Amino acid sequence: MSGITSQYPFYQADQLTRDEIASVQTERLPQAVARALKTPWYAERLASLNVVPDRITSLEALREIPFTTKEDLRSGMPFGFLAVPLDQVVRMHYSSGTTGIATAIYHTADDLQHWAECVARGMLRVGVTCEDVFQNMMGYGLFTGGLGLHYPAELIGCLTIPAGAGNTSRQIEIMKTFGTTVLHILPSYGLRLAHSCREAGVVPQRDLSLRFAFVGAEPHSPQTRARLENALALKAYNVYGLSEMCGPGVAMECTAQEGLHLREDHYLAEIIDPDSGEPLADGEEGELVLTTLSREAMPLLRYRTRDITCILAESCPCGSQHRRISPILGRTDDMLIVRGTNVYPMQIERILMEIPEIGSNYLITLETVDEMDEMTVSVELSSEQGYDDSRRLEAIRRQIAHDLAQELLFRPNVKLLEPHSLPTTEGKAVRVVDNRIG
Ligand code: ADP
Ligand code: ZN
Repeated sequence: MSGITSQYPFYQADQLTRDEIASVQTERLPQAVARALKTPWYAERLASLNVVPDRITSLEALREIPFTTKEDLRSGMPFGFLAVPLDQVVRMHYSSGTTGIATAIYHTADDLQHWAECVARGMLRVGVTCEDVFQNMMGYGLFTGGLGLHYPAELIGCLTIPAGAGNTSRQIEIMKTFGTTVLHILPSYGLRLAHSCREAGVVPQRDLSLRFAFVGAEPHSPQTRARLENALALKAYNVYGLSEMCGPGVAMECTAQEGLHLREDHYLAEIIDPDSGEPLADGEEGELVLTTLSREAMPLLRYRTRDITCILAESCPCGSQHRRISPILGRTDDMLIVRGTNVYPMQIERILMEIPEIGSNYLITLETVDEMDEMTVSVELSSEQGYDDSRRLEAIRRQIAHDLAQELLFRPNVKLLEPHSLPTTEGKAVRVVDNRIG
């Protein structure tokens, strides 16, 4: 038994071989389908299909069952997706409703245990130990971000500080006073925190003890991650999840930092073409569809996450045989169609964050001008950047416009702004304002 498993027996699930993962899935899939059939919603939806759970032992067989969508979850509110009596339910979360009406998600005590173990496995895999001081800067409450890493950190035995979102000067004070070593933070807020450290004269290399940050809940480019790592002198690991599955921890990055390992003993993943619904091969980018394998309170079959990624089937140098997904490019509903071209905000972010003079905040605005789509990218300059050399600023602006035109195949307007001029939120960053007519 390796060192980690002797202290944390649940870590064994992270060391399963491909064959073992496959047999866990084969065993759990029929159980998941049987549990789903106990819910009023699936019982009705699947009635005409005569589904025999015991026959559903593979992904191919599962494909007989239609997708479940966010709309379906809404139609089943409040209790249509419950598979157990309410007295077995111990917690409810609400999806934050970034894209519409929120939906309720339920957990039994075992569901919460599995969730905590999945996340703890990801934290242990990159080297978190019971000696770490974990400062959780994600929002607590109905949003799953805060509690989603809180219990895993306690399970590992970290000194766990439920700092919650915002209040940057207090966050910095806590990091300094208690020697925080691990953060959980929104990437957009991480860049702001780094900036506030600089303003307060706090030098992370000298004054802080940070080792890792777990970052997630919103798309972010590799360039943003690199900035965060440099600015706070730590390693940043991407954590992916969604309330409908549990919350953060469906997939987490390992030290190789090349994709996020799914926890395939609890989630069965497919990638589909978002338009046709047809399955896509490993390596092909499309929409992630997930089936819960162990969830008791609210089993979901073939849930369309709307997140765009691909499966990386190659083996990973870290040794885990759970397959990886690539970092999320965005949601299908984040995709903008501008002058007939598909654009993800992430494509724009990647370009902006390559430019050292650019700060961390940007906003994409869309308008209709003379019946044409007009895109304006407003970006804050970094605070180190002087704001008085107008020729230099014009050169930077042109450079950005040129780089964006190469990527997007049309030329957006670019506006340079002073630091702190764009609005910020305590939650997930808002990157797009679409004022187009029609
Ligand atoms: P809402 O759907 O209302 O935002 P959630 O809090 O459940 O509620 O958010 C889950 C969504 O957040 C995911 O479907 C995905 O779009 C996004 N997300 C979560 N983690 C990441 C990540 N590491 N990278 C990119 N996007 C992420
Ligand atoms: Zn790995």
